[in-house]
Amino acid sequence: MKDCVFCRIVAGAAPATKVYEDETLCAFLDIRPIVRGHTLVIPKRHATELEDLDAELGAHIFRAGHRLALAIRRSSLAANGANLVLNDGTAAFQTVPHVHLHVIPRRKGDRLSFATGLVLRRPHDPESTAAAIRAGIAALDAD
Ligand SMILES: [Zn+2]
Repeated sequence: MKDCVFCRIVAGAAPATKVYEDETLCAFLDIRPIVRGHTLVIPKRHATELEDLDAELGAHIFRAGHRLALAIRRSSLAANGANLVLNDGTAAFQTVPHVHLHVIPRRKGDRLSFATGLVLRRPHDPESTAAAIRAGIAALDAD
């Protein structure tokens, strides 16, 4: 879809710090992260809401989010957990009209930084953050 910012990212026409991609999906850092390492997993083919998304592709997106959550735990970001969240539809606070799964790293006792991040949502050195996540993926592949 021409005016969709996530489709523009997939096409390479808008900037994003990608951490993973395959033929059907791509994962990149949220430009307004709640916490460091906040990553979005999206289908490459435009789907506005779950209503428009192929169920198999939805399962594939969740598998990628699952894997990223594990990779982030193994990375230098030192997460102890993650929130995997998909807001479907504007009624559910979906802000970009292209399906996306949030992978939000969590650390024990991070409630304050998480709450602050919800308000500030500023980038945390995206290049080193993405490098840490890619290293976590490589560590998973080596297991
Ligand atoms: Zn799109």
